[in-house]
Amino acid sequence: MVDRKQVKQSRRWVIKIGSSLLTDNGRGLDVAAIERWVSQIDVLMKNGIEVILVSSGAVAAGMSRLGWAHRPDTVRELQAAAAVGQMGLVQTYEQAFQAYGIHTAQVLVDHDDLSNRKRYLNAQSTLKTLLQLGVVPVVNENDTVVTDEIRFGDNDTLAALVANLLEADLLVLLTDQQGMYDSDPRNNSEARLIDGVPASSSTLDDMAGDGGKLGRGGMVTKVRAARLAARSGANTVIVGGRIDDVLVSLHQGKDLGSLLLSDQRPQAARKRWLAGQLQSRGELVLDDGAVKVLTSSGKSLLPVGVVSCKGAFTRGDMVVCKSLSGKEVARGLVNYSASETQKILGQSSENVESLLGYKNEEELIHRDNLVLV
Ligand code: GLU
Repeated sequence: MVDRKQVKQSRRWVIKIGSSLLTDNGRGLDVAAIERWVSQIDVLMKNGIEVILVSSGAVAAGMSRLGWAHRPDTVRELQAAAAVGQMGLVQTYEQAFQAYGIHTAQVLVDHDDLSNRKRYLNAQSTLKTLLQLGVVPVVNENDTVVTDEIRFGDNDTLAALVANLLEADLLVLLTDQQGMYDSDPRNNSEARLIDGVPASSSTLDDMAGDGGKLGRGGMVTKVRAARLAARSGANTVIVGGRIDDVLVSLHQGKDLGSLLLSDQRPQAARKRWLAGQLQSRGELVLDDGAVKVLTSSGKSLLPVGVVSCKGAFTRGDMVVCKSLSGKEVARGLVNYSASETQKILGQSSENVESLLGYKNEEELIHRDNLVLV
């Protein structure tokens, strides 16, 4: 049996619920099932776990609201159905969470939002703030303007990108199967659940088979999602969403579903990922105090510690941080553009708002987005 200690110790979970689980045999949303997951999420939160929900089901819910018996062929009709269904989806979550006094927030994003550096930082700041407020973000793809998940993923990839964005420890992909099998259980009675395998393992590719109907949300996209999540150190569990008390049982360390492991420690993985992401677009020169704070206490970089800046960077770009003697000490994603940085460098964070007329974050580079070199 695979040791589930890592799952048990995970503190930030991204939970993705697939379309097939959310609809009541084509008769609209399965409200009772949603209420069961919500009551389990309440238990997780009472145990100190932060939860981000990634929910599909907008297309399916929209189809039933519009009285469509079959999934339409055109992407524009799918998008229209998603726009209609999203209303019902968020209403249902909102109501279900209200019973536990938990607020929810609707977050519609797309893959570009999570790779464009500026939007990446904006999404990260908002989602982290929501988590600090004890709110459960309910994330879906913005299906009106993009079609990646409608066509291929049923939100598997999106959920992994959200796990990267928030440095989640665990990605839970709830599905209508028990987990991922080493061969098709419909043809092979000997088929066994895969468990405790590194997400990077190439054996998973053979086992994932084809993507199922239309290639949407099959095991192929789930393996891919697990690999993406592993980049920032998150483990992934693919597990049956209809198993009684599935989420609470996972938290208790029960051996359910398929655990695909990240072979890197979250911190190291995160930093490597960040470092490999981008070329630097500029340079900040730090005073001795700031260099010391960064290198010895792992804190964020504040504008007050910056002496000068070079380059034409914008918010979200990677910049190099150097000491007064020109030695590179760190790299990170900067919260303010070069022209904004010119105005606030050397200043205390309290003055940022009066100098710029607005304030994003206190830090010039947040410690989560900073890599020491
Ligand atoms: N974002 C879509 C949804 O929530 C993806 C699922 C699908 O294509 O059915 O409905």
